[in-house]
Amino acid sequence: MEKQELLYEGKAKKVYTTQDPELLIVSYKDDATAFNGLKKGTIAGKGSINNRMSNLLMARLEKEGVPTHLVRELNDRETLVKRVSIVPLEVIVRNIAAGSFSKRYGVEEGVVFEQPTFELSYKNDELGDPLLNDDHALALGLATREELALIRRYALAVNGLLRKIWGACGVTLVDFKVEFGRLGDGTIVLADEISPDTCRLWDADTREKLDKDRFRRDLGGVEEAYVQVMERLTNSL
Ligand code: UDP
Repeated sequence: MEKQELLYEGKAKKVYTTQDPELLIVSYKDDATAFNGLKKGTIAGKGSINNRMSNLLMARLEKEGVPTHLVRELNDRETLVKRVSIVPLEVIVRNIAAGSFSKRYGVEEGVVFEQPTFELSYKNDELGDPLLNDDHALALGLATREELALIRRYALAVNGLLRKIWGACGVTLVDFKVEFGRLGDGTIVLADEISPDTCRLWDADTREKLDKDRFRRDLGGVEEAYVQVMERLTNSL
């Protein structure tokens, strides 16, 4: 399968059409952005790590009953995926307070929740991805009630499975963001990526940050952190 036209270029990925109208090629870049694009940089080797990590994790999720867009990895940075139309929601599950949750609700980073939280943001850069509830999503026509229920069920299942996978690597899954898409026939599948760009991952013993927060907060050792979590994941498989 070969790349045809550039369909879309985002902050961290490019998406190309292929000869098959139902399949696209995703190409992962080393570019990194944070704070709604205000902070820009590159993380050497990130594209390849995110590509391979996302594929490993999605393949596991698929096996456990969560449908995904993954078809097959083509090379280090490129993956063949099913064409979807993205549901414009950022679906966030949290196990531990951090980031915008800590800021919004005045909760210290690191407070462990008794139960995971599920939240939705409207995926809209101009508006700064505002938080919304199911009724808001319905009013905006972003998804149907049935789709929202399914998205919630899948997201919580993904959390349970990812917590197990990362736990086996000595890594604590703090929170993550996923996106869902609709196939041509309307089937909801997990899309986008699952990587240290989209998950908060802490060393289970030291709580050292092993994710994009190292870039967001200028903590140094960004590349090393990505390499380390990838190694831990591959060593545990
Ligand atoms: N996240 C993401 N993309 C976004 C916003 C958040 O991948 O545009 C991820 C982020 O890496 C973290 C989780 O979603 O793992 C929760 O992020 P939060 O709402 O705390 O926002 P942040 O503090 O990253 O702005």
